[in-house]
Amino acid sequence: MQFIWAVSKSYLQKHSRKETEYPTISHCPHCNRFINLWHHGYYERHVPTVDRVWNLDICRYICPHCHKTVSLLPWFLLPYFQYPRDTILHTLREHFLSQTSGIISRQLNQFYAKRFMGNLKAIILIFRDKGFYETLPENEKQKAIKLVEWLQDTCPSASIQMIDENCKHFHNFMAL
Ligand SMILES: [Zn+2]
Repeated sequence: MQFIWAVSKSYLQKHSRKETEYPTISHCPHCNRFINLWHHGYYERHVPTVDRVWNLDICRYICPHCHKTVSLLPWFLLPYFQYPRDTILHTLREHFLSQTSGIISRQLNQFYAKRFMGNLKAIILIFRDKGFYETLPENEKQKAIKLVEWLQDTCPSASIQMIDENCKHFHNFMAL
């Protein structure tokens, strides 16, 4: 299981894992106990950036009661997606605008777009639920562009956790 962590990319890029202040997790999502979880090592995620691959340490926790683990995923990454959130949104926007910068392969871009279009209705519902009442274009492609822009504008302190993650019926905008 993963917890989403509202932390900036630059903070993690500037600090080694020893210097990083990882939050205290005081509730176990597995056994539902209010108990401080223990640090339980790290695993490495390879995050492609514009000019290199960034090896990011993802902190893991273990519940002292049920011994199940939780990992702390920075909000700018999506579970099971190698590319960071901003790269995915950027390439989605380009795809819908029929542009390409070649950051990712055409096949992968098409896969992203298909997934995103399949989630379109759910994404709209969640935005509406969070108070985004602006009219959306009728055209599907235009609508998708607008939603990508809204997602690009959301930040962790705002409603991103609710829009991107942890919703009962909708894990994130790229989830199935
Ligand atoms: Zn537990």
